[in-house]
Amino acid sequence: MRAAAVFPVERRLAVVNDFPEPQIRRPNEVKLRILAVGVCGTDREIASFVYGTPPEGFNYLVLGHEALGQVVEAGPAVCERFRAGDLAIPLVRLPCPDVTCAPCAVNRQDHCETGKYREHGIMRLHGFMTEFMVLDAGYLTPVPKALGNDAVLVEPMTIAEKAFIQAEHIASRLPWKSQRRAAVVGAGPVGLLGAMALRLRGYDVAVYSLDLAPNPASRIVESVGGRYFSTRNTSAEQLASEAGPFDLAYEAAGAPTAAFEVLKSMGPNGIFVLTGVPSRHGGVEFDTHGVMLNMVMKNQCLLGTVNAGRDAFNLAVEDLAKIQTRWPGVLGEMVTGRFPLEDFASPVLTPKGIKNVVIP
Ligand SMILES: [Zn+2]
Ligand SMILES: [Zn+2]
Repeated sequence: MRAAAVFPVERRLAVVNDFPEPQIRRPNEVKLRILAVGVCGTDREIASFVYGTPPEGFNYLVLGHEALGQVVEAGPAVCERFRAGDLAIPLVRLPCPDVTCAPCAVNRQDHCETGKYREHGIMRLHGFMTEFMVLDAGYLTPVPKALGNDAVLVEPMTIAEKAFIQAEHIASRLPWKSQRRAAVVGAGPVGLLGAMALRLRGYDVAVYSLDLAPNPASRIVESVGGRYFSTRNTSAEQLASEAGPFDLAYEAAGAPTAAFEVLKSMGPNGIFVLTGVPSRHGGVEFDTHGVMLNMVMKNQCLLGTVNAGRDAFNLAVEDLAKIQTRWPGVLGEMVTGRFPLEDFASPVLTPKGIKNVVIP
């Protein structure tokens, strides 16, 4: 069968035509037909040969970690839970083999401490840009059929869900509810989905991003009742005076300058969550005195988060269903490009629009 692959040593991308079709070998395995795979900046980094590692014994890595699959068959131990035709989302990261790794031992490999974890389509494990996958049922999240093609957004939504689960833990230090105003830095898919999740939680949401409005992302923000501000004509101070001070900020751009500008606008007891991976070069001038003073005097918290656990996958499925009901059609507007597997390099290397998907 076909698979979209990156050959890091040869520095090329190609469709592998003789990738072996997997078969169920254990009673708890599920065979999925891959319906769609979302493309993101991580794929671009891997396809630019700056990141990513093929599995042992391979000179290529099959790309893709944001998959929507449909059950073809399931092993005898899990066939009650996974029936042919059901939709499912695979977990990206699998636990590391180190028995002393406490997070992996309790299935929280998103907090792995050894760095020896494996990630589909990223680290030492083939990805989902292929026709079929066989996976352990324990690493699958079932999806209601009603979510349909919008379920391809589950994996990027898990970034927001993990951020907000953790922010809620931190907010529980306060014996009152103080969740009113939120800032989202970045209006890519992860930022937009975060904005929707925050609107579901009742926040006033201000999205702060590069491009001037109106644009497709600003229209999505407004259609879910948020406000959109461009860094081109709104300073962080203006953003703060119009929409802040913020109780919660969610950074999803990998843009340190904008992130640390917004950090200055956090209110008392504010929580700032960083999720974007910045490009590897460049630094910014940074008022360390002012930020430290603010953080101490206002009891603020700065938190980094990566990847997601099963709780975030379940919550992502629930929240996407709520978004479908509350703002019909808005998730469909997020997917702006669909590409056949043969053409996977186009959305990976020269992305346009909001979210592109590859259809194997
Ligand atoms: Zn991704
Ligand atoms: Zn581990």
